[in-house]
Amino acid sequence: MPMNRRSFIKIAAGTTAAASAMSFPYIAYGASKKVVVVGGGVGGATAAKYIAMADPSIEITLIEPNQNYFTCFMSNEVLSGDRTLDSIKFGYEGLSKAGIKVITDSATGIDPDKKTVTTAGGQTFSYDKLVVSPGVSLDFTAIEGYDEKAAEIMPHAWKAGPQTALLRKQLEDMKDGGTVIIASPPNPFRCPPGPYERASQIAHYLQANKPKSKILILDAKPKFSKQGLFTQGWKDLYGYGTDNSLIEWVAGGEGGSGNVTAVDVKSMTVTAGELDDEHKGDVINVIPPQKAGKIASVAGLADKSGWCPINKKTFESTLQKDIHVIGDAAIATKMPKSAYAANSQAKVCATAIVAALQGKEMVDPSYINTCYSIVGKDYGISVAAVYRYNGDKDLIAPVKGSGGLTPMDARPEDRKREVQYAYSWFQNITTDIFG
Ligand SMILES: Cc1cc2nc3c(=O)[nH]c(=O)nc-3n(C[C@H](O)[C@H](O)[C@H](O)COP(=O)(O)OP(=O)(O)OC[C@H]3O[C@@H](n4cnc5c(N)ncnc54)[C@H](O)[C@@H]3O)c2cc1C
Repeated sequence: MPMNRRSFIKIAAGTTAAASAMSFPYIAYGASKKVVVVGGGVGGATAAKYIAMADPSIEITLIEPNQNYFTCFMSNEVLSGDRTLDSIKFGYEGLSKAGIKVITDSATGIDPDKKTVTTAGGQTFSYDKLVVSPGVSLDFTAIEGYDEKAAEIMPHAWKAGPQTALLRKQLEDMKDGGTVIIASPPNPFRCPPGPYERASQIAHYLQANKPKSKILILDAKPKFSKQGLFTQGWKDLYGYGTDNSLIEWVAGGEGGSGNVTAVDVKSMTVTAGELDDEHKGDVINVIPPQKAGKIASVAGLADKSGWCPINKKTFESTLQKDIHVIGDAAIATKMPKSAYAANSQAKVCATAIVAALQGKEMVDPSYINTCYSIVGKDYGISVAAVYRYNGDKDLIAPVKGSGGLTPMDARPEDRKREVQYAYSWFQNITTDIFG
């Protein structure tokens, strides 16, 4: 579907206006109510901040184990060397200034009956409403030989920070003519276009610095997000489809041979596909299958799928009362597991919590997502959608005609502009969350 950016912006702007009209009455309400937020990433930090803005009388505590947050978004640019790790690092001073109590600790237990959260540091916090946004946990049992120790040799870099720095260092140390293997996970997972943007950014680095090298993507899936646009970009920039291509993609799924089943860190090999093909790599980036962050299953918020079912209008768990789950951990029907989506869901969730604590009715919300991918220098692509709550079916449903993909026949100046849009989105969203 060709993207009609004008109508997307029109609907998105309407959505924002409607959301702010309903969300921020600025009415202080009676005795102080308590909201605890577990997880100071995109979803949690946004929810905490927007609840504080909507009703300053609410006492908000944010529990997060790390002093700083490294964004996964734009971390692929750290791998290519186009940006520093410092440029994706954010602190919690902004949230403290907004009146939120920030606790550096890890939640280890939630008691839905007593309405308390306990932490590794031995603290207990009581709540009227709890927001849980723990992101994903990586399944270190799914691929034979791939555990947390193996991730120090074959980094996943699917949580940004030290893992990103490790993968970057390995790429820098690799000889010209080396092979980089990327094992891409099955659906659903954090950031559907992420592995392919990563391949693009690594190709961008290798082309300039180690042009005899190759990237082999072993995929657990038969197809992937924005596939047409990515492969077009790889053809335009990296010789995709020719003998000299920097990137090779191997499909997985039924009958495919990309599905990685085992790794061996000693011989630096991975085994993939039904025929157990062995591939040797110089740098191996294994992105394992995922589920909701561990605290979600500990607290009985996740179902058999490993993800958290929620009421799509309020993000309240359908398994535990007064606990709301947002971001990657939630089953948000058509919305992808992205930072843009987590930020949008957090605002809907904040509105629902403030409405509930003020004894008001929650209105039918709308939600937005855009995922930019930077394929190479001056070459950006995107997918965008606006969603509305469909009460009849309890769905987060895309609004027809509201978004779409970058057109395949976009002009070079449009592709260049998409990179600028991506950078300005990064600036805006990080200020919105942490500023
Ligand atoms: C390589 C890559 C590129 C990406 N690029 C994009 C992009 O371009 N655009 C986009 O929109 N999205 C992108 N994403 C996806 C995006 O980063 C995630 O979807 C987003 O961070 C999800 O937000 P979240 O709040 O669910 O989880 P997170 O942001 O991961 O936050 C979870 C937080 O919870 C904390 N936590 C976990 N357990 C506990 C506990 N027990 N107690 C207390 N705290 C806890 C963690 O420390 C963490 O800070 C990308 C992801 C990757 C990996």
